[in-house]
Amino acid sequence: MAGEFALIERLLKQAPAQAKTAPGLLLGPGDDCALIAPPAADEVFAITTDMLVEGTHFLSTDDPADLGWKTLAVNLSDLAAMGARPRYVTLAVSLLATDDSTGWVDQFFSGFTDCAKQYDVSLIGGDTTCGPRSFSVTAFGTVKPQKALRRSGACAQDDIWISGTPGMAALGLTHKLSTIVLPAALEATASAALHHPLPRVALGLALAGLAHSCLDVSDGLLQDLGHITQASGLSATLELAALPPTPPGVDKAVWQQCLLGGGDDYELLFTASPNNRAGIEALATQLALPLHRIGQMHADGKAGTITLLDPHQKPVDLSQLRQGFDHFA
Ligand code: ADP
Ligand code: MG
Repeated sequence: MAGEFALIERLLKQAPAQAKTAPGLLLGPGDDCALIAPPAADEVFAITTDMLVEGTHFLSTDDPADLGWKTLAVNLSDLAAMGARPRYVTLAVSLLATDDSTGWVDQFFSGFTDCAKQYDVSLIGGDTTCGPRSFSVTAFGTVKPQKALRRSGACAQDDIWISGTPGMAALGLTHKLSTIVLPAALEATASAALHHPLPRVALGLALAGLAHSCLDVSDGLLQDLGHITQASGLSATLELAALPPTPPGVDKAVWQQCLLGGGDDYELLFTASPNNRAGIEALATQLALPLHRIGQMHADGKAGTITLLDPHQKPVDLSQLRQGFDHFA
């Protein structure tokens, strides 16, 4: 390495210029701490951390620019899921000693700053060490506390909605790690979903005050819906027919596993009153983002139970399904 300090200086020079004059930012990177002003009087900070570790979340052969994008995107997705506006981020990196001279870190950082620019967030500090590759971002957003989208806010009879096409990222991963063959266009879509997720920030902001509960699907649709049902003390039914159908050229069982148990989608799963259906459908048009109404929350039944119904309203057997990702399972 050219040295830690030279590396930090070089990277920070590449950070987007707009970020250095961001509202509320009193002092950016370079001192022992950054200084940021409290948010507006009626707002609070929403704060989240996510890390990506080589071998667990990515492979050494993955494209570094994609990885830089994803490292930030997954954190902005958590802010989106809370209905918060992304404002500031810190970035802690552990890099291989060779990552500087090979240009790997510059590519990583270019992907990171692309994402920062696109979502208008400021990099306000971080840490740089040498070791096995891992990346940790802490993201600060702002939200009106009464509008923050909590997992515990779902109500009985709420509709359950999901954005985009859940299962695509898992399909991309399955393709990457196995021998399944996908039609070329689908392979590109699935690979983009896996490597270049788009945090649903505009959707999250629009849902604040409209939806009752929300989270981003990072560990699998069923498992993540389980977090909402548990936190809200309710049960849920999902309609298989309302979920994205098996894409042409994909095995049905593979797709069902990706759709229901696959992670990494970063789509928003939310519940809302049936009175808001028209408003949510209008939002889908406005954001050019498909929003699927896939089920309903219920007060009866054991809290946390999720039943998947086939088109004849018969429960689908889920015993063969891996329901989601658990790092310690
Ligand atoms: P300290 O030893 O006080 O923690 P560092 O030498 O780690 O300071 O960092 C110097 C400055 O550079 C700090 O303001 C820190 O926030 C910033 N910095 C270090 N690494 C990064 C990084 N990966 N991304 C953004 N800022 C960083
Ligand atoms: Mg430090």
